[in-house]
Amino acid sequence: MNATPTHLSAHTLRLILGDQLNPQHSWFATLRPEVVYVLMEIRQETDYVLHHAQKIIAIFAGMRELARQLAEAGHRVHYLSINDPANTQSLTDNLSVLIAHFQVQVFEYQDPDEFRLDQQLQAFLAKPQVQAKPQVQAKPQVQAKPQVQTSSPCGISAGSSQVDSEHFYTQRHEAAELFANRKQWLMETFYRHLRKRHHVLMDAAGKPADGQWNFDADNRKPWKGTPPEPPDLRPEHDHSALWASIQAAGVNSFGEPRATQSRWPINRAEALQQLEHFITHALPHFGDFQDAMSRKAWRLFHSLLSFSLNVKMLKSQEVVQRVEAEWRAGRVALAAAEGFIRQIIGWREYVRGIYWAQMPGYDEHNYFDHTTPLPKWFWSGDTRMNCLAASITTSLHNAHAHHIQRLMVIGNFALLAGLDVPALHRWYLGVYIDAFEWVELPNTLGMSQFADGGLLASKPYVSSAAYIHRMSDYCKSCAYDKKQRLGDVACPFNALYWDFYLRNADKLKSNPRIGMAYQQLARMDDSALAALRLRANQIRGQLDEL
Ligand SMILES: Cc1cc2nc3c(=O)[nH]c(=O)nc-3n(C[C@H](O)[C@H](O)[C@H](O)COP(=O)(O)OP(=O)(O)OC[C@H]3O[C@@H](n4cnc5c(N)ncnc54)[C@H](O)[C@@H]3O)c2cc1C
Ligand code: SF4
Repeated sequence: MNATPTHLSAHTLRLILGDQLNPQHSWFATLRPEVVYVLMEIRQETDYVLHHAQKIIAIFAGMRELARQLAEAGHRVHYLSINDPANTQSLTDNLSVLIAHFQVQVFEYQDPDEFRLDQQLQAFLAKPQVQAKPQVQAKPQVQAKPQVQTSSPCGISAGSSQVDSEHFYTQRHEAAELFANRKQWLMETFYRHLRKRHHVLMDAAGKPADGQWNFDADNRKPWKGTPPEPPDLRPEHDHSALWASIQAAGVNSFGEPRATQSRWPINRAEALQQLEHFITHALPHFGDFQDAMSRKAWRLFHSLLSFSLNVKMLKSQEVVQRVEAEWRAGRVALAAAEGFIRQIIGWREYVRGIYWAQMPGYDEHNYFDHTTPLPKWFWSGDTRMNCLAASITTSLHNAHAHHIQRLMVIGNFALLAGLDVPALHRWYLGVYIDAFEWVELPNTLGMSQFADGGLLASKPYVSSAAYIHRMSDYCKSCAYDKKQRLGDVACPFNALYWDFYLRNADKLKSNPRIGMAYQQLARMDDSALAALRLRANQIRGQLDEL
């Protein structure tokens, strides 16, 4: 696939990465015949971690669709498909070839969201021939970074600039600036800061709407079957030809491809439809059942917007504004609107700030020194633990699991069992349709595994079976007994939970938020503690068989 006549030169080459599928970027506001847009399907990106098949398919489908739309609008587009013989399969090698081929003088790219891509592009531009050049006047919407004058590896003179992706509320460095030397970087602080600054859910006096910042306490209901889960109205796509080309290129993947019935949006119009569908049918119940889990409903009242947001088909501001407008029009309760907006303006922007403030090196933290390999059922869902079977099966089947499944089932078990943190990070980065390192890494390593020692989370997110039972219907039909701590049928979460606190007392006992757990342990006699330790060791020794 290649929409550009290859014989013409181009003054400017603009790179569009696979998670930069925003057709409303100011780049595209004017037709400029001297500009070529390049999109590339490359093994570098399919192979840096083992990905879910649906993720590769959905990203490539979205890239192809954006290329088609841009070409149709009259832009010059150069598209390298995965099996194009001219494709070197490396981002920067392809760029070198194209810069030479089109006799490019200026190279431009949007802020990459992943550190490794940022580094790769900077290294590419900082080859020995590069000399600094004064910054040129940027277009109003685009924040140009200092330009450099470079001779490409092919010896062609080209200026370069890195521009804003025009997607987020915040700049990369803002969390670091706000928190400076604080020991703990509280999401709530960041969230309130952004709400005030952007006047989201605020009253005329500058106070939070209805005098309350946070309705989290109202958002903890289990789901008993009513109201019914809204229908899945996302259109289906047949991507079997694309999937065949991905396979022909030899790309490895895991999970169910479902190529003939893909339901991930391919363009902004479909993403907007999903937003509207969510607002009408699911948002009113989002807050109430945000933490609920059920074998009978994999989506519940979640938006499934993370893919469209992360590949930038949707802007975070427009999603927040749309939800706030729904509340202001009286069609949705404040608790539901606030609960949802907090995910976007709070968690999403905040984890991005953590990522950019802590990289490089954040991915190396492993506070509890956990090194146990992932059990084999992470790749099949084949375990008798009902909660894990359900959460991993939906991950493999849909390339999606909702937050509490990711955090309080899979992540909870991983932390209690002491699973290898880098291996777990790679699993999360590969399996989910929305997984890009800037958002996945702080969630997995910081929030779910407490591997940063408490920078992001004030205490480890761990629980015994009691929490899972309260929030789900998993325990009712499980082979294990949620109430027992000891014995072969006892729920593995129970002994592992107490053993986790025992093993890590030196690191956790002084944390005021976990005093209760240590008070309960103090009331147990030595034989009870020894029995818990023994059972936990047995479990850890036979993870594959659970
Ligand atoms: C261990 C772990 C790994 C995760 N990995 C990712 C990931 O790779 N990519 C990703 O987008 N989210 C990740 N999350 C956050 C969250 O689970 C997903 O954003 C959410 O499940 C996506 O489904 P949804 O669009 O239906 O979300 P909804 O429940 O409808 O929430 C609305 C939106 O809020 C945002 N959001 C909610 N929670 C978070 C959060 N903790 N961090 C950032 N944004 C959030 C998402 O953009 C989401 O689309 C992870 C969470 C955990 C615990
Ligand atoms: S009993 Fe334990 S393993 Fe089974 S579903 Fe409940 S929490 Fe999960």
